[in-house]
Amino acid sequence: MSENRGIILHGPVRQKLSLLALLFAVGLSARGETPVEIAAALGHTMRTNSGAFEIVRDLTTDIGPRLAGSDAEKRAAQWAKKRFEQFGFDRVSVETFPLEHGWARGEEKAEVILPSPQPLVVTALGGSVATAPEGIEAEIALFKTYDELLAQPTNSLAGRIAVVTEPMIRTQDGSGYGAAHRIRGEGPAQAARRGAVAFLMRSLGTDSHRLAHAGETAYETKGLRIPAGALSVPDAEQLERLAARGPVRVKLLLTPRDLGSVTSQNVIAEIKGSEKPDEVVLLGAHLDCWDLGTGAIDDGAGVGIVMAASKGIHDLVPRPKRTIRVVLFGSEECGLWGGKAYADMHKADLDHIVIAAEPDFGQGPIYRFETGVANPDEWTLNQIRFALAPLGVIRGENGSHGESDIEPMAGLHVPVVTLQLDGRDYFDFHHTADDTFDKIEPERINQSAAVYAVFTYLAAELGGDYRAKASVEAKSIAP
Ligand code: ZN
Ligand code: ZN
Repeated sequence: MSENRGIILHGPVRQKLSLLALLFAVGLSARGETPVEIAAALGHTMRTNSGAFEIVRDLTTDIGPRLAGSDAEKRAAQWAKKRFEQFGFDRVSVETFPLEHGWARGEEKAEVILPSPQPLVVTALGGSVATAPEGIEAEIALFKTYDELLAQPTNSLAGRIAVVTEPMIRTQDGSGYGAAHRIRGEGPAQAARRGAVAFLMRSLGTDSHRLAHAGETAYETKGLRIPAGALSVPDAEQLERLAARGPVRVKLLLTPRDLGSVTSQNVIAEIKGSEKPDEVVLLGAHLDCWDLGTGAIDDGAGVGIVMAASKGIHDLVPRPKRTIRVVLFGSEECGLWGGKAYADMHKADLDHIVIAAEPDFGQGPIYRFETGVANPDEWTLNQIRFALAPLGVIRGENGSHGESDIEPMAGLHVPVVTLQLDGRDYFDFHHTADDTFDKIEPERINQSAAVYAVFTYLAAELGGDYRAKASVEAKSIAP
């Protein structure tokens, strides 16, 4: 992999930064500069060539799809371990944990039988049970909003396939997904309560391609389990038009398998801190992905961003005081199992993690710095904001709960931040066969890796206390 760190200056870059960047490029020590200046130069260099693009290329090419609990996911873990060792990190390990239910996709087919026979593009929701081997044929009950389905009385959908065609709204921060997410998560269970024999939904996607978006569903422990799938957006709209004209019969065939208990794993790699090795800045991303594509944007991009950011710090700047720990989690997609396992296995030393961050929303760029800390005006956070500004990052609210895998530790009071990625095109590809490496753009992912590098370096170097509340006394004394 090319590690050329040549400096290409474009646009009005502050003279000081370009000089500092030049110092790094020729391998001179930057000692004597302030941490913020060092971080700024690091960010400037990474923005041109972070190495993140090549990491995503290699992960998606060497491994390809990496479904939770699969052999491919295990190969991905070994791939990442080897890569961290090649980087020269201090401690690299793989922690295995059990996964109660491995799941494998089977055949998936849907078609309109009446009034006008035609195929529909469908994919099984993760965790879905299979239909009968010959498929299910039934009249559909179509609801344009999920709330309409919820308003139906018990058993009112007996013998029918429930179809929800509520669209997902495109947003920059992913809030459209947040609003529609429950349709996939609970829809099949709610349809089963009302007597439906199967559940189909419009994909949670913002594209208009005939590609279905996969994603996990969750049945009720004691409830009836019915087969569940997602239709491509154009096919969901086709069913809406057909249903407006009269009764529609659909045939559905899904043959996924429950593999029973399997294992998954988290990969952990560290750069040991020079002065406070017991204090840890944790970066996460998830290694698994849905099997339809090769997981380039979800979450190959996140893996590329945190691996490149940490390697940049390892190679380019004086070793920071605190330890930097990168965790590449397994089995995020089917229920955050890697994040839960990590929080559980490391419960005793979670208070050593001074702050955690995880990119799991595509390749960026990053535009906002949100915190989830006791005191958002803590002085080092302001230093970080200052250093992130030249990369185009604005201050956000103090409402971060962390992304995906670090949520379980955030729930156990680990301070977190969200370096908010611009995801307005994320759901065009998310969980589809189209989530492939050609979507990754060097300029975008380099900016994200640069932002992560700057944040991580300063969080590890400046020694901020993100659990401490603001001192009221100090505030009242200040003029
Ligand atoms: Zn993800
Ligand atoms: Zn995902």
